[in-house]
Parts: sequence; structure tokens; C-alpha cells
Amino acid sequence: AAVDLPIHDAVLGRAAEFGDRPALIDGVDGTTLTYAQLDSFTRRIAAALAESGLRKGDVLALHSPNTIAYPAVFYGATRAGAAVTTVHPLATADEFARQLRDSGATWLVTVSPLLETAREAARAAGGIREILVCDSADGHRSVLDLLRSTAPEPVVDLDPARDLAALPYSSGTTAAPKGVMLTHRNISTNLAQLDPMLSIGPGHRILAVLPLFHIYGLTALMNVPLRNGATVVVLPRFDLEQFLTTVETHRVQGLFVAPPIVLALAKHPAVAAHDLSSLEYVLSAAAPLDADLAEACSRRLGLPPILQAYGMTELSPGTHVVPLSARDAPPGTVGKLVPGTEMRIVPLDGTPAGGAGAAGVAGRQDVGEIHIRGPQVMKGYLGRPEETAAMIDEDGWLRTGDVGRVDADGWLHVVDRVKELIKYKGYQVPPAELEAVLLTHPDVADAAVIGVLDADGNEVPKAYVVPQPRSALTAAEVIAHVASHVAPYKKVRSVEFTEAIPRASSGKILRRELRALEREKRPARD
Ligand code: ATP
Ligand code: MG
Repeated sequence: AAVDLPIHDAVLGRAAEFGDRPALIDGVDGTTLTYAQLDSFTRRIAAALAESGLRKGDVLALHSPNTIAYPAVFYGATRAGAAVTTVHPLATADEFARQLRDSGATWLVTVSPLLETAREAARAAGGIREILVCDSADGHRSVLDLLRSTAPEPVVDLDPARDLAALPYSSGTTAAPKGVMLTHRNISTNLAQLDPMLSIGPGHRILAVLPLFHIYGLTALMNVPLRNGATVVVLPRFDLEQFLTTVETHRVQGLFVAPPIVLALAKHPAVAAHDLSSLEYVLSAAAPLDADLAEACSRRLGLPPILQAYGMTELSPGTHVVPLSARDAPPGTVGKLVPGTEMRIVPLDGTPAGGAGAAGVAGRQDVGEIHIRGPQVMKGYLGRPEETAAMIDEDGWLRTGDVGRVDADGWLHVVDRVKELIKYKGYQVPPAELEAVLLTHPDVADAAVIGVLDADGNEVPKAYVVPQPRSALTAAEVIAHVASHVAPYKKVRSVEFTEAIPRASSGKILRRELRALEREKRPARD
């Protein structure tokens, strides 16, 4: 089932055929790149980088918000043999330096507004041979200069099964971000697995607002649509008004988003002021999405049910997706297993659950940790053999750290992360479930739940709530609302009102930041 193609060939193999079709459109100023341009720019960039001394195995750091140049630099670098480590455009110089050092990057491509941070990071990390910019800046070669190169295209002998295409860093939601080694085979195979489920063809228009540096964006907003002749409308950041206007102006058909955008689409008054009739589907991934919220969003937009997908950086990234054509997916499911991949659900307490099949492995409907085996499992964490061994066992099974269950028809439901479950007197309470219930309250704009210790030393759910503007919501109302929807042991015991929920750019709630706030409040306890 493995696809042994370099990633740039897997994506741009049909670029000549798509020729003058628009591949990328800048959603802000309308600049367009055709498929023919994208393909030739990619080759020119590869040639110029090779001429400058870039060799197979070098690591190139790509530090940029979403732009139409992003894919050309990415595939140009891989074509020259580099592994691309994508960097968060809002990383501080310190964070960036850490990633440069950890990844062993020797080339750096940035954009002029971020140049100062890039320079500082490169100075601190050392080892960077050259800083290039995508636009233009004094004293630095730009990608536009690379396009003028007359150097011959490099002949690079890539081994897709071993050579790295990308070195993304995991989101750092639960611990410090780790460099994830993804080979050309990992990504090209996963692309072939996901592609048929998404059926995105020439002429189809999607909007890219989630970050391309994250593996979800890289796959759903770049690799999949560009392989199929679709048009990607690119926005540099999420601003609801600009997002809605762009959907309207460019008659966008498909949205690949994360739950916070689903939330905005379901609840924000601005949505009603736009003509979003071009939309055909919305797909959400990267964090738990509640079925009721999904329902509210699709009803408001007059769309079929919101689709979901599931994956993680270490899985290149997708293992489950609800096919665009599916009309029978149960509410809340993240999809069915992609072909050529195995999954097992392992009971959390280590003992076989009722109806278990093979020893220690739960049967269908049982809740447990999701384990995955297949050609999209990463090569490992860069420079972290112990952490790699803790993640992937000798038989090649990767422990996702996520809790889920599979229904009788094979649809996967993700409950939460193993580490985030609140352990209340022998029960396990998933905070994601309580967050979903909180969001059903009309006066709740956003919410997060963590476990805190009560006076008796029990771990109990506490809610952080962002009230809707001008609402008079009280803590007692919040507690009563949750209590009327869940079993008594899951009740929220305390509420704190706040202005914003801390989230990663991929939309994930940063519960560890809320836990740190709690620790600061009660230093004597921990
Ligand atoms: P780190 O591993 O550094 O702590 P992270 O796990 O958030 O960060 P990613 O690889 O970006 O880094 O995210 C993968 C995780 O996102 C999954 O393990 C899962 O917890 C969550 N996730 C992805 N898709 C979904 C989904 N559809 N529903 C629920 N959770 C999801
Ligand atoms: Mg993770």
C-alpha cells in the first residue's frame, strides 16, 4: 500500500495537465499563480538552491504565514533534496532558535516582516548558511531572485522510504514540541489514502486560512487540492469578517477548518450578513468537535452535516475521514479508517474489557486508547530515541494517546486525550464532553474544562467560561446547565469567567496553560 514517490511528484505530477488553471489565489490582493507557474517556480527554486550548495538531507526552515509562495518554496526545497521544517510565524526568537538548533536547519526562508525575528533566531542557534526572503529585503536574496536562476535542475537521488520530506514540530499541546520525521513515503502514501475520500477535482475552490506550517494545513490545504487541480484561496490569518468576505467574493466551495471556526460560523451574528451560498461542505479536524455544535453550524449555513477527520503529526497526519460523499455518517464521528492502515482500541486500565477480542484488545463499542499501524506512521522523533520507543512499539503500533470507540459500522468517535481525562473517584470524565455541553448554552461564547482538586483532594471538573457580550450569566446557571445534561459524577463544580480561552493556532485548547494558572493560585497545595 506504500506509495514511493517524492512528495513534490506526488503533488505536482499533473501540474502540466492543469496548465493555466489557477492553483493559488491571494485572498487579500487577488494575485494568482497558475499550475504551470507553480510547477516551473518549484523547479527554478530547486535549481537555485542546489546551485547555492543545498544538498540532499539538508534541513530548510520555512518561516512564513500563509502566502501563495509557500507551496513553491516547500516543494522547491524538497525537489532539491531538503527536509522542510515548518515554523510557526508567530514563534518568538527563542522558540524559533530552539527549533533551528533541534532540527539542525542550515537554510532559512522567511518573509520581510518577520526578518528581525528570523535573524535573531539564526544568530542564537548558529549554523544557518543563508537567510532568504519570499518577498524582498535589503541584503538578502529573495525567492524572486531564485526564479531568475539559469542553473540546471538538480538530479537528486531520493529514497522515498528513508529520506525525510518534512520535519514538522508537534503542536506542543501536552508537552514541549518534538520534531516529527516524515519521509516522502509517509506523506505520499497518506495523500493517496485520503485523496479518494475527499474527491476534490479541477475547478474546485477551497479556502486556506488554517496555517500551512501545521501538518493539517499542509495536507488539506496544499497537498490534496494541488494534486487535484483545485484552486486554493489563501489568507494569512483568521479574521472572521475577512474570511466571510473571501468565501463570498471567491465563491469558495470547501472549507477545511478547526472547531473554533465552526463555533464562529455557528454563533457569530456577522455570518448572516454574507452570501455563503457557494459553500458545499465544511470539514473540521485537529480538536474535538461536539455533535450539537456541528449541527448548529450546518443548519445555519444550510449545508449537509459538518464532516470530520482525525489524525496527528506523527501519522502524516490522517487516519480517519468522513468521505465527502458520505450521507450516513453518525453525528460526532471523525470518520472511517483509511485503506492500508490498521487500528486497535486498547482498554485504558490495561485489563480486557467485556467482549474483548484478542487478549487486552477491546472489541467494538468499547472505549480505549487508539493504536495505529501503517505506512503513514512517522520514522520517529528527531534525536529522541526514548520518546520514539515510548510512542511506537516493536510491532510498529503507534499509541495515539487519544481515547476513542468504534461503532458497529466502523465509524470512529474520539472521546478525548488519555492524559486530559479527569479522574473523579474512579470515574473518568472527558473535559471535551463538558466543553461541548457548555457551548450549547446561548450565553456561552467559549469554554474550557480542566480537573482541579477540591477541598477533599478529589479531582473535579472546573469550567473556564467566556460569556457572550452583555450577557448576565452566573456561575450557578452554568453549573445547573451542565448538571441538567450529564451524569452527576461529571458535574462541573466551579466556574471562572474569563475573556479568552488559550488556544494553539491549530485550534486546540491549551488546557496545560489553565492548569498552570490554577497552580499559581494555590502554591501550597501542589
Ligand atoms: P503535542 O503532541 O506536541 O502535545 P498535539 O498532539 O496537539 O501536540 P498534533 O499532532 O497537532 O499535536 O495534534 C494531534 C492531536 O489532535 C490528536 O492526538 C488528537 O488529540 C487531536 N485531534 C486531531 N483531530 C481530532 C478530531 N477530529 N477530534 C478530536 N481530536 C482530534
Ligand atoms: Mg500529540
